Amino acid sequence: MNAVYEPASGLVGKLNRLAARTFARRPLKADISVPLVSFSFDDFPKSARENGARIIEHHGWRATFYTALGFAGQTNHLGELMDEADIRALHLRGHEIACHSFSHHDASRQVAKAFAADCERNCAELMELGIYKPASSFAFPYGEASVGAKRALAKRYGAMRGVYPGINRKGDDLNLLKAMPLDGGEAGLERALAGVREVQTRPGWLIFYGHDVREDPSQWGCTPAFLEAVSEAVAKAGIAVLPVGEVLSHLAPGKQPQLAKWAA
Ligand SMILES: [Zn+2]
Repeated sequence: MNAVYEPASGLVGKLNRLAARTFARRPLKADISVPLVSFSFDDFPKSARENGARIIEHHGWRATFYTALGFAGQTNHLGELMDEADIRALHLRGHEIACHSFSHHDASRQVAKAFAADCERNCAELMELGIYKPASSFAFPYGEASVGAKRALAKRYGAMRGVYPGINRKGDDLNLLKAMPLDGGEAGLERALAGVREVQTRPGWLIFYGHDVREDPSQWGCTPAFLEAVSEAVAKAGIAVLPVGEVLSHLAPGKQPQLAKWAA
């Protein structure tokens, strides 16, 4: 678990990703008429629980923590990872604990049935921890999906998130939602702030995803100041911030009037 995994690069990786984006789609039917933001943290490190949750809660918001229980109690390049007490604490404070598979394998390199079984194991063990609804949504480890995995998991989760960049709007794929990273230092911060401006100008659903939140972050993480700057920009713009699962429940058919209430 300590070695940093590299998803497939080159032509094979590109073709897999293109197929995963093109097939087994579940188009978003709702017209999103007000800007929406969700903050999510993958894997997740203790620093996301400590600094990430603190910054999000400061604004009265809640985040989505994509949890891979196989990481519980371990330490890797993201720092110390969560344990069961962290999961329970976040759940009690109203954050969403969502599924990120148990073993954190690359779905594009695993048989779909085995991958789905691993996700099912994660959900079952989360429920044993008292997370009654762990699985309204899912995030693909490394953002790597496959057509088979999308099909196998589509009935299980209301939505699945990848790491393909962008803002989600009508017609986009609920089986592979776009997202924007909370990483990349100064340039990454500019990109995130540009995302906030864009979603404000042209409404849609912007899902941020991060990993560690600490003073000396990994390549996949950010500093507390970075997250604070993004949160401040979202708050100043008066954009509604909700966990992924809550947005999904509002996007269900017949729920559209709710969206108008979110407008600042
Ligand atoms: Zn992950």
